[in-house]
Amino acid sequence: MKNRVYLDYNASTPLQPESRNAIFSVLGQKNGALNASSVHSFGRQGRKSVEDARLAVAQLVNATPELIIFNCGATESNNTALRFFETQYPDEVILVSAIEHPSVLKAAKSIETIPVDAKGCVDLVWLEERLQQAPQVSLVSVMTVNNETGVIQDVRQIADITHRHGALFHSDATQAAGRLSLDIAEMGMDFMSLSSHKIGGPQGVGALVLGLCGQTPTLLHGGGQEKSARAGTENVAGIAGFGVAARLALDGLKDYKRLALLRDDMEARLKNISPDIVFHGKDAPRVGNTSLFSLPGVPSETMLMAMDLEGIALSNGSACSSGSVKASSVLKAMGVPDAQAKSALRVSTGWATTKDDIERFLETWEKLAQRWKS
Ligand code: PMP
Repeated sequence: MKNRVYLDYNASTPLQPESRNAIFSVLGQKNGALNASSVHSFGRQGRKSVEDARLAVAQLVNATPELIIFNCGATESNNTALRFFETQYPDEVILVSAIEHPSVLKAAKSIETIPVDAKGCVDLVWLEERLQQAPQVSLVSVMTVNNETGVIQDVRQIADITHRHGALFHSDATQAAGRLSLDIAEMGMDFMSLSSHKIGGPQGVGALVLGLCGQTPTLLHGGGQEKSARAGTENVAGIAGFGVAARLALDGLKDYKRLALLRDDMEARLKNISPDIVFHGKDAPRVGNTSLFSLPGVPSETMLMAMDLEGIALSNGSACSSGSVKASSVLKAMGVPDAQAKSALRVSTGWATTKDDIERFLETWEKLAQRWKS
């Protein structure tokens, strides 16, 4: 088989070689382990790796290093923020958009969902009206970029509306980091979630970034790591890899113009090959690396498996369970009919994607689309 083509960056990006080197250099220590809390020289070396990474992650979102709390990923960050508010303000509710990742949607019981329009953008009028009603809202959580459609929310406006009504604002920026220029203060965020494996770093590491509201949501209690904001021995190797990836992601932001051009050209050619194709979120601002589309009548799993047999790795954009592909809740929230939602496919690209990868995908699509038509 020809080389395999990976077009599923929104699930996990390939590890950047420099990030891998940083991880190996921590894990490869022969004469002592680098527990960043130990006072000996090995510990101090571990501490230096963690603090270098903290600076790099802070720079990625234009925050100061002390506002970065390392943890095991965006799922933990989202749970930390939402559960903290649910516990602190038990009589109030949390508003989250209907298109959030499950780690937001399932993190708390006292949530109400903010609808989105057909383009995939949060309904700001609904939000403003809801914030004026009882019960009171403690936290609003809206993702910066959606993982399935790539649609970018107007987080600055959402933050302003939220603050006007006395609530705080959290945003899951997992799919925005490295794809958009981020500035936590400029974007009006009180809390931001990040994940290393979406920006070329390792899995199992991420951060909750604090804004300037002065609150520090905490989920795990125990040792005093991360200034007692997140107990547990630091994952020094993972954090070191995350730091390097954050630096490369900031440097690589300009590459997203190239990816957007590749994506736009790919979409135009897909439409030529398959006139029935429907693109989702195309009328809203989108990050340059994501394309979600449906070929009505052909189930996602059929397309995914056929593509995989040809060596092309894609996703349907939503989770599979017990072997059957469920219609995406994001597409449902956008009012996409079930039949279309069940035939969705996502192409997501990143730092190592080449024009040849997209050509291979299109060649394969053309071949398979003939088969699916008959
Ligand atoms: N939020 C979004 C938008 C995501 O795409 C993901 C990863 N699928 C997560 C949260 C969870 O991130 P992690 O894997 O770091 O827990």
